[in-house]
Amino acid sequence: MNDCIFCKIANKEIPSLIVYEDTKTMAFLDISPINKGHVLVIPKKHFVNLLDVDKEYLNAVMQTSQKVTKAVKEAVNADGLNVSINNFKEAGQAVFHLHVHIIPRFKNDGLKTWERSKEKNWDDNEVVKEIKSKL
Ligand code: 5GP
Ligand code: ZN
Repeated sequence: MNDCIFCKIANKEIPSLIVYEDTKTMAFLDISPINKGHVLVIPKKHFVNLLDVDKEYLNAVMQTSQKVTKAVKEAVNADGLNVSINNFKEAGQAVFHLHVHIIPRFKNDGLKTWERSKEKNWDDNEVVKEIKSKL
């Protein structure tokens, strides 16, 4: 992808603070970190998000994510870590090249995770049926 910023980072056309790379993946510091040690893991090949990545790169990205998550935890002495992928604009995806956020968490860091729906205006049994029918 010509105009993809993470392809450019993968190709080293633009600089980043790389913490790890191998043939298929790269991990680098987020330019605008949520906490100290916020790392992004990307495939070196362009995929939009979790939905279109092929198995080979998915496996590689997940293995790198686990390896880097362990290293980040020790490096910044994190108490916990959020590891997540935003898929599509409505879910907060701003860069349309698959990336896994590794976000260290610290006791009393004040960050809030998502609020739960207060009212369920759907039937969960129907939801299970719909999901199963798409698998
Ligand atoms: P998203 O919202 O798409 O899940 O996350 C994109 C992330 O990429 C953001 O956390 C943002 O700070 C980071 N980011 C965007 N542009 C750059 C860049 O040029 N370099 C680095 N290192 N991170 C970037
Ligand atoms: Zn890309």
